[in-house]
Amino acid sequence: MVKKKQMKEEKMSDTKKSDTKYVYFFGDETTEGDASMKNELGGKGANLAEMSRLGLPVPAGFTITTDCCNAYFAANSHFPPTLEAEVNAALARVEAKMGRKYGDPENPLLVSCRSGARQSMPGMMDTVLNIGLSTSTIPGLIKKTNNERFVWDSYRRLIMMYADVVMEKAEGIEPFDGKGIRKILDEILDQYKYIKDYKSDTDLNADDLKVLAGAFKRKIQEILGSEFPDDPMKQLWGGIGAVFKSWMGTKAVSYRRIEGIPETWGTAVNVQTMVFGNMGDTSATGVAFTRNPATGENLFFGEWLINAQGEDVVAGIRTPLPLNNETKTDQNKDLVSMEESMPETYRELVDIRNKLEQHYTDMLDIEFTIEESKLYMLQCRVGKRGGKAAVNMALDMMDEGLINDRTAVLRVAPNQVLEFLLPIIEPKIESRQSILLKGLPAGPGAATGEIFFTAQDAVQAIRLGKKVILVREETSPEDVEGMRAANGILTARGGMTSHAALVARGWGKSCIVGADGMIVDSINKTMKVGDKILREGDVLTINGSKGVVYEGDLPLVAPTASGDYARFLRFMSLVDKYRTMGVRANADNPADAQKAREFGAEGIGLFRTEHMFYGEGSAKPLFLLRKMILCTTQADRISVLNELFPFMKKDIKDTMLAMDGFPVTIRLLDPPLHEFVPHSALGRQELSKALNIAEDEVRKRVDALQENNPMMGHRGVRLSVTYPEITEYQARAILESAAELIKDGKDIIPEIMVPITCDIRELKLAHELIEKAYQKTLIRMEMTPKQLHYKIGTMIEIPRAALMADKLAEVAEFFSFGTNDLTQLTFGFSRDDIGNFMSAYLDQRVLTADPFQTIDRDGVGALIEMATKKGRSTRPALKVGICGEQGGDPASVEFCFSQGLTYVSCSPFRVPVARVASAQAAIKAMDK
Ligand code: PEP
Ligand code: MG
Repeated sequence: MVKKKQMKEEKMSDTKKSDTKYVYFFGDETTEGDASMKNELGGKGANLAEMSRLGLPVPAGFTITTDCCNAYFAANSHFPPTLEAEVNAALARVEAKMGRKYGDPENPLLVSCRSGARQSMPGMMDTVLNIGLSTSTIPGLIKKTNNERFVWDSYRRLIMMYADVVMEKAEGIEPFDGKGIRKILDEILDQYKYIKDYKSDTDLNADDLKVLAGAFKRKIQEILGSEFPDDPMKQLWGGIGAVFKSWMGTKAVSYRRIEGIPETWGTAVNVQTMVFGNMGDTSATGVAFTRNPATGENLFFGEWLINAQGEDVVAGIRTPLPLNNETKTDQNKDLVSMEESMPETYRELVDIRNKLEQHYTDMLDIEFTIEESKLYMLQCRVGKRGGKAAVNMALDMMDEGLINDRTAVLRVAPNQVLEFLLPIIEPKIESRQSILLKGLPAGPGAATGEIFFTAQDAVQAIRLGKKVILVREETSPEDVEGMRAANGILTARGGMTSHAALVARGWGKSCIVGADGMIVDSINKTMKVGDKILREGDVLTINGSKGVVYEGDLPLVAPTASGDYARFLRFMSLVDKYRTMGVRANADNPADAQKAREFGAEGIGLFRTEHMFYGEGSAKPLFLLRKMILCTTQADRISVLNELFPFMKKDIKDTMLAMDGFPVTIRLLDPPLHEFVPHSALGRQELSKALNIAEDEVRKRVDALQENNPMMGHRGVRLSVTYPEITEYQARAILESAAELIKDGKDIIPEIMVPITCDIRELKLAHELIEKAYQKTLIRMEMTPKQLHYKIGTMIEIPRAALMADKLAEVAEFFSFGTNDLTQLTFGFSRDDIGNFMSAYLDQRVLTADPFQTIDRDGVGALIEMATKKGRSTRPALKVGICGEQGGDPASVEFCFSQGLTYVSCSPFRVPVARVASAQAAIKAMDK
């Protein structure tokens, strides 16, 4: 049974009168919009208007604004009352310009209805082509084109698209038997071809297509319970409403959530004269980038198909042809380029490419159609590009004089520089591998993982902690969640402009498309390469930069000093020219400190001392720590601290050495104690022996340490209050390490940081203990305060600390916002348990971003602003930083800049990201 959602009849709402202009004409010098009107006209509409103004051949049309989309939803899916008159007036202008009339039996105008949001959302919303073909206009078009087959083919395409987009999806009809109307009509087509023994769609002649159109219409009536409209006007309004509704479609909503696009932006609708790339061998359609979007190389790069319509190139249904000879690859070197087969039109397209790049001073993504040798531009927009390409293009365009250096810095999204640091396959091992399969290099870097054949299975496997390569025949917008989750993507079909390529490149995800040496069977979850059959769970490694697939789990390594890396370094030096805020790293061992330094860190903002008790080489210090925790007297604790002391010193000293010349902020011990007590019988036995007490006594002491809320428990500065000797020994380890290095001629600047403070008296107490250790160190090391000095500071992690910041600054010479705890305690969200509810908060838009990833400006941000001001009111030279996870998040870095922070501190890998974000914030502030 077909279930129909209750949808109100779509009619002109008469609830609200308005004089807002909703419709903008484009197509000649009288064009009404321009490129600056993206918010109103959407990206596509604004650029169609701009191209028209530049005098480029754009088929005339009009754009219905995003405001109209919002008004439509606000009025419960009714068009604003003034819209009909505006559409009619604009349509009349289009008719006059094109010399055809909409719905005219002699000389009919056909139009397309396409979506267009402010930001491109590839394939997420719906489009209807060939609108206006009906039993009354078909004969006129046949007479005019003298091409009966073309007209009937266009008609059956309209019926299929319209039934799918307007009559089914937009009406909220659940697919019959889980099978959509499009699939049902496709089956009729396949069955017809089978009976007639036709191999391909092109074998169908005009009579066949006429029969099919009739069969389609009958099936639509049967399945959807309504008739395919024969009235061109009804078709047009159906198309417009369906595009609006696709803004609220599942695909679009899910893409918006991933990309953080607000629902209030709405989509525009572009109604544009149809031009046909499928009118024979002098017609064609294509998609191109003004430069290579994968590498950034300054070569006109694109794909096209002869005798094809609109979406055929991007849909990956036929393997597209290369645009020109210089961009042919090993895979497509034998295919004919546009440069070869239509040289004149190609030259015209090259001229347009040059004109557009000069005008927009950026790389553009364009769509064009050639109708019987006449070239038309259907779209242009700033092209999505991978990170490496973004950097290369920014530098090249700066060298070409197209943009200045500030613009070059702004051209690269901060996270894109990660691509230069993305893993590659260990080069020696890769050179010895035999290649399983080749395809097009659509998304950068390497990935390895088990293969899964559906987006759902991929998401499931990632949840189980597996590494995943998503393998598809081709991807469609329904696959985005799986594509997002997977480590890498591999498709059998599609070109560099296919859905998979566009999406993966946007995310900087490793991806290979068009690997046509494989046959994918997603029902049986297998893929076949030659005689070899691979099944779900088999492991592949893909090199998305080269487009090569290998069998097995090959080791991935960080990129070394390749040519690309040199470009990255050049770009980063440009970044640092404009950066004013410091960038430090969170690191607690020499290797991470070294890495951070290579990535441009100017010191360490957080050395978590408790990390010496995790991971490699930690067995002995962990055992000693446990022993200390279970001691009941100070004398016993001091004796264990003496044993622990060399371990405490080692990592601190080696890390300080690796950061020679830069400040290192070392935080006093901040472990929730229960994390370290032994819970296993063996652990308890060991301790009972070491402490010479009964196992039962060990258990009792362990139980006594148990806390209900360890995150708010006996940790941080509270340990200085209860066990002052621990703080003293730690301070001694830090100061002695610094003293020894200074004596060796190193430039060491230790900064001692007190965690979890909420009151000045805690800080004073810790300060006294540190000072005591400092005086002793001076004597022991025979040094003067001039030779060895240190700074004391505190973390601001508790709302009370932010409220008391002016007091804390009496002692603290620096603040560091611990925004992990500060977020936890401001929201009252346990940072360890947010997994249970955060996705529901995001899905239902209770929050727009996870506050543990991006600083919540309204709440946590207000505390940061207040604490910084209060702190500096006491101590104007107070250094202020941030060391929570948000310190490497571009939006948070921008916020920190706006608050005048001295530095941000983040994991070593994110240091370059924070550098770019910080420089961009500075440039934007200069440009304000
Ligand atoms: C913080 O709370 O932001 C912080 C950096 O400390 P930790 O994550 O170690 O609690
Ligand atoms: Mg903390």
